[in-house]
Amino acid sequence: MTDLQLTPTEPLDDPHTLDDLHRFVQRHPRLFVLTGAGISTDSGIPGYRDDNGAWKRSPPITLQEFLGALAMRQRYWARSMVGWPLVARAQPNAAHVALARLEAAGHVPTLVTQNVDGLHQRAGSRDVIELHGGIDGVSCLDCGMQQSRATIQQTLEADNPALLDVTAEAAADGDAHLEWHDLGGFRVPACSNCGGLLKPSVVFFGENVPKPRVEAASLALDAADAVLVAGSSLMVYSGYRFCVWAQRQGKPIAAINLGRTRADPLLSLKVAAPCGDTLSALAGLLAGD
Ligand SMILES: [Zn+2]
Repeated sequence: MTDLQLTPTEPLDDPHTLDDLHRFVQRHPRLFVLTGAGISTDSGIPGYRDDNGAWKRSPPITLQEFLGALAMRQRYWARSMVGWPLVARAQPNAAHVALARLEAAGHVPTLVTQNVDGLHQRAGSRDVIELHGGIDGVSCLDCGMQQSRATIQQTLEADNPALLDVTAEAAADGDAHLEWHDLGGFRVPACSNCGGLLKPSVVFFGENVPKPRVEAASLALDAADAVLVAGSSLMVYSGYRFCVWAQRQGKPIAAINLGRTRADPLLSLKVAAPCGDTLSALAGLLAGD
């Protein structure tokens, strides 16, 4: 279903309101929802980017860096050892809860997230595609064995007690902004099955989203009436492409985001307000609360 009045041809002039968003969902009841780091900031997990979509700090590690040098893997795992507990302890917030409620009401057949924190599932969303994987898993690049991140944390802490008392500000992927000058003695975890190289089961920068995952999300987009982006600047192509594809299909795109998004020129509607308040109010209006 398309609505000619809402096709993304006119530039956005006026800020849109919750009522506009409510009408948008009434006209396009089956949403392809795409979420990003802005959904989880209220859970204490900081985003990567500022309101203009620029990196707040140095960009995350790339796959090439991770594979290329032991020193980079030491840096990665040291920061992860310090930062992961915060992500593991984080609780879903009002935005996650509202999206689970919208799914139960039939408005979100599939939720696609760029986040790796697992908070949508913990809030009760069932049909979730984690584009960038989940931070709760670790895989061996040599034998393929999967292990839980919690198990690896025990190994990290047992092997590197000097880092146990270090605290640092965490980042969205369980990384931490750790200043540590001598990581030469840091012991990176190895596969308990084959001794091979372990990597968290997340898509690193410089790495492609696995094709089956993209295809599953693409099918969900085909079945949707419209796109709702929540809490993402869409600066990464892996999420942005769904907006491009939606536009090609003539499906309108709405966004809830406090800052600029890469898809702003494609949007039919944009609510510049916090995700938690907006989604909670939207779920209430649609339920007739
Ligand atoms: Zn292995």
